[in-house]
Amino acid sequence: MPATGFWIRRIQWPMMELLKENRTRHYMAELRRAQSLQTDALLESQRKKLGKLLDHATRDVPAYTEFASEWETHREQPERFLQRLPILSKSRFRQNADQYLSQHTNPAKLIGNRTGGSTGEPTRFYLDRPAVERYEAARWLGLSWHGIQIGDPCVMIWGSPLELNQQQERRHRWKERWLKNRLILSAYELDTEQLPAYLRLIQRFQPVYLYGYASALHSLAEMMLERGLSPGIQLKAVVSTAESLHAHQRQTIESAFEAPVINEYGARDGGMIAYQCPSGRMHIFSENCFLEVVDPLTGIPLYPGETGALLVTDLHNSVMPRLRYQLGDMIALSPQSCDCGINFPVLEKIDGREDDMFISTHGKIVHGHYFNHIIRGMDSFRTFQIVQHEPSRLSLKLVKDPDTYLPADESRLLAGIQAALGDVSVQVAYVDHIPPSASGKVRYAIRECPLTTAPRME
Ligand SMILES: [Zn+2]
Repeated sequence: MPATGFWIRRIQWPMMELLKENRTRHYMAELRRAQSLQTDALLESQRKKLGKLLDHATRDVPAYTEFASEWETHREQPERFLQRLPILSKSRFRQNADQYLSQHTNPAKLIGNRTGGSTGEPTRFYLDRPAVERYEAARWLGLSWHGIQIGDPCVMIWGSPLELNQQQERRHRWKERWLKNRLILSAYELDTEQLPAYLRLIQRFQPVYLYGYASALHSLAEMMLERGLSPGIQLKAVVSTAESLHAHQRQTIESAFEAPVINEYGARDGGMIAYQCPSGRMHIFSENCFLEVVDPLTGIPLYPGETGALLVTDLHNSVMPRLRYQLGDMIALSPQSCDCGINFPVLEKIDGREDDMFISTHGKIVHGHYFNHIIRGMDSFRTFQIVQHEPSRLSLKLVKDPDTYLPADESRLLAGIQAALGDVSVQVAYVDHIPPSASGKVRYAIRECPLTTAPRME
């Protein structure tokens, strides 16, 4: 609703700034200035912020005070010093979480948060308002690259129902509608009969953009294409977040909604990390975070262009600094810049979750996309899910397409799995559909055993 957007920008945000000292737009202006800096200036600015964070962490955060004297002798090279610190895995953090809380934090100012726990135990952590506002600022800046501004109407296609009672739900919907100009639709409660009603809701709300999980947007898009339904409105973009966006999903979403798909890359416990620009590249908010990529088996730093485990250091979460936090994603940084005018460094690719990586009986890492790639080339199956329980024991769920199923495809698929993973047993089951996990996300490839259980052979 355009009038609501005007009200949000002209009245509500200035009021929040005045009364609650909200600084999101101030941080956004800072980021906007930074995006035109030259590479050297950007690096220098990031180095200064990292140095300040290390000063604070080694002085006030119990987990890091033992490194204080070492930091004193390496103050000139914060990036190098950071590499001397241990990698912080989620389980290591969970076991000692209170050690990461800054000693001089006012408990009243802490904001508690936790990850959804779609892959294992949820991780609980704290941040403060400025850190949250900096994430928000990064998101709004990313959206502004595509002509979307604060307060623009948005329909969220969300996977998981909110855990609220009726009164909370009404309050939540009111806030969403009038303070954020957002309408939330649950993609997983949707069936094909309700689809036209959903589309009418979207048409009536007149959003400028849609926002949702890749898989939620994808399942809605597939239903629309199957029934030949169009969105009936002109969208600036469809923003995909919270999950890897596969190329086939992007294609389906773009053709169903007749709008470009923008990828947003962030995590609750990692902040807003990168955003796709109009030239299609992912720019890293290097003013907000410091990223490293390491070999997931050895922890050795990798070069730009090489894919490995991502370590995030949030430069502004001073209440609970987590240095070299292993987020669980596999990515590659790019040695190249982009021609769009935004000078933030480029993230070459997001290659899925570490949990999507399989380990062969020879100790080699095999990407979950590998199975996706084989199956997408066959007409026999609509979709699938493969789980590695132990290095040599897997299960495979297949949703057959009864019209085009060929037993030979299944043999080829099993041969492909064994070619990649070695002499493994695969238990096959035919199912009607693959249900989403509790968080609402659908996963194609899941590894349940640690990456390091298999012997590593050179
Ligand atoms: Zn760009």
